[in-house]
Amino acid sequence: MLADFAVRVEQSHGRRYPEPQHPYRNDFQRDRDRVVHARAFRRLEAKTQVFTRRYSDHFRNRLTHTIEVAQISRTIAAQLGLNTDLAEALALVHDLGHPPFGHSGEKALDSIMRQHGLRFDHNLHALRIVEDFELRYAAFRGLNLTFEVREGIIKHSHDYDPKEHPELAEYLLDLKPPLEAQLIDLTDEIAYSTADLDDGYEAHLLMIDQIADTSDLFKLHYQEAKRQYRGVAEKLVFNEALKSIFDVFVGDLITNTRERVQFAKVHSVEDVRRYPERIAAFSAPVEEHRLKLKEFLYENLYYSPGLASEKEDAERITRELFAHWMEEPDDLPRNYRDKPGHDPLPRVICDYIAGMTDPFIYQQYEKYCCG
Ligand code: MG
Repeated sequence: MLADFAVRVEQSHGRRYPEPQHPYRNDFQRDRDRVVHARAFRRLEAKTQVFTRRYSDHFRNRLTHTIEVAQISRTIAAQLGLNTDLAEALALVHDLGHPPFGHSGEKALDSIMRQHGLRFDHNLHALRIVEDFELRYAAFRGLNLTFEVREGIIKHSHDYDPKEHPELAEYLLDLKPPLEAQLIDLTDEIAYSTADLDDGYEAHLLMIDQIADTSDLFKLHYQEAKRQYRGVAEKLVFNEALKSIFDVFVGDLITNTRERVQFAKVHSVEDVRRYPERIAAFSAPVEEHRLKLKEFLYENLYYSPGLASEKEDAERITRELFAHWMEEPDDLPRNYRDKPGHDPLPRVICDYIAGMTDPFIYQQYEKYCCG
């Protein structure tokens, strides 16, 4: 049962290259499946989310993070009467454009590109992957995804200025994305903030007291879990607290978005698009808790001394490899060497590096920069 403000697959703006309908999968289901079968999707398995494999094999990587986001998105979309197929496709594609080494890799690539008067942006890169780099079909380049999925990629946690990005004009930059796409930014936040607390604690980089000192939300739920489970291992009590926090975020996002939908009186996707602000949102108090936790994670985990050497590696390796290929473009693989006809060399190198997994970029670094 779809709500009146949900995206209906039969009203999709369609694919770039028209294709016959599939006998038993609708277009959004096919998009979801196309993403799952993409090479770039498989490579997410060997890309850092926050922790490299140096820490542990059971921490999240970008693929498992993506699957968590898809799980949360499906649940919430179903509760709100949104299109779960579209929400799932959007969740599975949301991190496709991330380079190796997580956020450090992204920052390094962007700062190098700025020196060439260009930028690196993971949303735009993801769009290039699904539009151009994935080669699976005889009739066209890319995955030929529906408009709604491509639009969701572009509108993931970012509003591009139509004046600065005339090439994105077809994506209706002056309009808000449908609720299915709005949801992904927030389910992404839920997934990584709870998961990073979990992995950070397991890695002994975060201590329970330290989290409780900053986050009243955590403190409340940890104390409650401790009361309920006496004599149980600390890790399991911690898990119970995390689970409750997770439920607070998910539950709040559902109820608050439902209320905002009613308040906004939206009765179609068009209404959602034309509403002056994004409608999917946490309530003010939960948003405040979320921001506090996020701030805490930045200060104590993402920028912690424990992860500093990873960051320096990411920065140095990316920079040195980039410089090597700028000097020796003949060392690029043939399909990239032939590209500069269309794109400037720094863009070609950036695309190549951005597609790499962590192990592959290390291997390339050893091959070209450690001679
Ligand atoms: Mg993400």
